[in-house]
Amino acid sequence: MNDASANPAPAGLPFARVGIIGLGLIGSSMARALRKSGSAKAIVAIDRDAAVRERVAALGLADSITGDAAAGVTGCDLVILCVPVLAYGALAEIIGPRLAPGAIVSDVGSVKGSVVRDVGPHLPEGVHFVPAHPVAGTEHSGPDAGFAELFANRWSILTPPAGTDPAAIERVHALWSALGSNVEIMTPEHHDLVLAITSHVPHLIAYNIVGTAADMETVTESEVIKFSAGGFRDFTRIAASDPTMWRDVFLTNKDAVLEMLGRFNEDLAALQRMIRWGDGEGLHALFTRTRAIRRGIIASGQETAAPDFGRHAGLAAPKDPAG
Ligand code: NAP
Repeated sequence: MNDASANPAPAGLPFARVGIIGLGLIGSSMARALRKSGSAKAIVAIDRDAAVRERVAALGLADSITGDAAAGVTGCDLVILCVPVLAYGALAEIIGPRLAPGAIVSDVGSVKGSVVRDVGPHLPEGVHFVPAHPVAGTEHSGPDAGFAELFANRWSILTPPAGTDPAAIERVHALWSALGSNVEIMTPEHHDLVLAITSHVPHLIAYNIVGTAADMETVTESEVIKFSAGGFRDFTRIAASDPTMWRDVFLTNKDAVLEMLGRFNEDLAALQRMIRWGDGEGLHALFTRTRAIRRGIIASGQETAAPDFGRHAGLAAPKDPAG
């Protein structure tokens, strides 16, 4: 028995020709992971930035490289959008006419409602749209930041619009499984609500606290840096995430983020009251509950117990924050 027969490729894999648009952190990680898992016979890297294309060539991430999205997707049986979500609509309009019936379009965007709204109308009859979001990432950007193991043991959420061809969903599901991800399927609306509280609002809080510290007049900048290990440092890591990507997340997931921020503000006011009235019992009860949540995350394998939040750990360690 040879290796191939011992480990047959999952049904629907490999794809013959995969076009990846945007070879940043996530796109380049996809290219590496597709290669490593044998899930694509050929990879076309499509990026508007000549410097990115040069790095992709030097790193050997693709079989062909182009800056022309329409030409690049021609002949692809899978196209994955890996650019900031507000760029999707214009790209879909360009690539739509070049996609053959049976082709699948997917993505990795951190927001799903806007993606379904912006991309769907530009795809011709017979082209399947299976949006996806790998809940995995780092605060780094660009093709050098990617790595093949980024998606291993992380969750990838698929949000196929109602009526999507089940076989297309199955192929995208098989792809993410081959990259090492656990897969869950939900509606775009539910995705956006869940991610608002697990990812988007935490990023906003980090951006806000780092911004507040930067604006403080009574504490010097050197003191903020010097004493950052007190907790601030971990916020700065999240607040270093890509500005374009996160601008787009907040502009496209506005309703869910505002809803969660409303709840957050109420709870913050309750905490404020506990501090004002010396309610030590209340504070202790909350901190005990939150500690249990972190322990649950570690127990589920989504984080290590290392006190540095995984920053110095190897590739097997989680690479938060994820968009
Ligand atoms: P990234 O490293 O900054 O890469 C983004 C790539 O998209 C760059 O090559 C960029 O080219 C290109 N791009 C930007 N705007 C474009 C436009 N208007 N038209 C065409 N190309 C454009 O970003 P990333 O972290 O990989 O994020 C990509 C996607 O993954 C986003 O939709 C994000 O929501 C999602 N995501 C991110 C994470 C995370 O933690 N980072 C996690 C899960 C999902 P330029 O250099 O020319 O700007």
